[in-house]
Amino acid sequence: MSTAARKIRLLMLLRRNGVTDVQVLRAMELVPREAFVPATFRDQAYEDTALPIGHGQTISQPLVVGLMTQALELSDRMKVLEVGTGSGYQAAVLSKIVRRVYSVERHRPLFLEAEEKFKELRLHNITARLGDGMKGWPEAAPFERILVTAGGLEPPAELVAQLAIGGIMVIPLGPDRREQKVVRLRRTDDGLEREELWPVRFVPLLPDVASDPVPPVEQAG
Ligand code: SAH
Repeated sequence: MSTAARKIRLLMLLRRNGVTDVQVLRAMELVPREAFVPATFRDQAYEDTALPIGHGQTISQPLVVGLMTQALELSDRMKVLEVGTGSGYQAAVLSKIVRRVYSVERHRPLFLEAEEKFKELRLHNITARLGDGMKGWPEAAPFERILVTAGGLEPPAELVAQLAIGGIMVIPLGPDRREQKVVRLRRTDDGLEREELWPVRFVPLLPDVASDPVPPVEQAG
């Protein structure tokens, strides 16, 4: 089957499973998922499965990307913060819908690879950086939308503080991977409204920048 045919099959699967927002379907049609998948898994790029991207991390299942993107209720004037760049695929999908995407990743090699992809694919409205996404991106706040693509117990306070009034945060929450749900939070004048959407299994949201093994440095002298 050709890539185009596989892609159409996947888009139909997404639609059958509740991704009905035409902007989201169009964005997922435009972004080449195969570009964000390691070469060894490229033949599975249009299967509805999560795939390993190294460092114990995964590119999310397309259906989860579609449903989470839809749950954000996006419009084209918005500025969105993503926590957990990973492969960069989700950020690329967002970039086709909104004005500007800020994305933070804690693993340096993943961050560097994703940045390279954004350049190659000319996704100039994505700004990515290495850091602890739980701290958000204070210089660019407030955000109309925040998408967290790693699971935690509670929404990080600094992210809630960087969410605009009337803004939406979509985040997987739960005591562990087996009891995680995608939660939609709306910031109102009085606080946060919380809506549990559906069960998921995301890798954990972890603090700080990951310490990658550093090759030994030769002593001078
Ligand atoms: N959105 C990604 C999938 C993300 S997997 C994609 O489309 O491919 C979750 C990612 O979140 C991993 O890359 C992990 O390293 C990252 N992550 C976990 N905790 C983080 C934190 N505090 N700050 C930034 N990134 C984090």
